[in-house]
Amino acid sequence: ERLVTDLKAAIRSIPDYPKPGVVFRDITTLLGDARAFRRAVDEMVQPWPGSKIDKVAGIEARGFILGGAVAHQLSAGFVPIRKKGKLPHATVRVAYSLEYGIDEMEMHRDAVTPGDRVILVDDLIATGGTAAGAVKLLHNLGAEVVAAVFVIDLPDLGGADKLRELGITVRTLMS
Ligand code: 5GP
Repeated sequence: ERLVTDLKAAIRSIPDYPKPGVVFRDITTLLGDARAFRRAVDEMVQPWPGSKIDKVAGIEARGFILGGAVAHQLSAGFVPIRKKGKLPHATVRVAYSLEYGIDEMEMHRDAVTPGDRVILVDDLIATGGTAAGAVKLLHNLGAEVVAAVFVIDLPDLGGADKLRELGITVRTLMS
C-alpha cells in the first residue's frame, strides 16, 4: 500500500486534457522521479522473474519507455508496436478502436518468432482497445502473450476485464 501511495503521488492529473471533461493521467512526473521510476519498473517485472520471457512488446509511445526498462531488467528483447506507417520493414497491421473512431497499429513481421513468450507493456489501460489490438498482432504472429502489464488501470472503462476475458493475465500497479 505504501508503494501504491508513493507511485500515485508521482502521477500528475491534468484536468480538461486533451479535451474538456477528461482528466489526463500524466506519467512524465513518475518517469522523472528516479525512485518512482525504478519502483514502478521493479513492480512491473515482479511476478515472472523466474520464467523466461523472450520479448517485451511496448505500445507507442509511453509503452516504449516503460517497456524498454522492463525488457532490460528481464534480459528480454524489445519489440515496438507503432502507429501505422512508422516501421520501415514488412509489417502486420491491425485496426483498433479508440474512444472516437478507429486507428491502425503495426509490428514488424519478424519481430517475434512463433512460440515466443511475450509480455505486453503500456502506461495505462482504459477501454482496452489499444491493448486488445496489440494482443491480436502478437497472436497473429504466433507469440504467447504471457501477461499484459500497465502502471494505471481505469477500471470503470473495463479494459482490464476485457483482456482477462481474452485469457490474458493482466497486472496493473494502481487504479
Ligand atoms: P484504451 O485503448 O485502453 O482505451 O486507451 C489506452 C491508451 O490510451 C494507452 O496507449 C494510453 O497510453 C492512452 N491513454 C488514454 N488515456 C490516458 C491517460 O489519461 N493518461 C495516459 N498517460 N495515457 C492515456
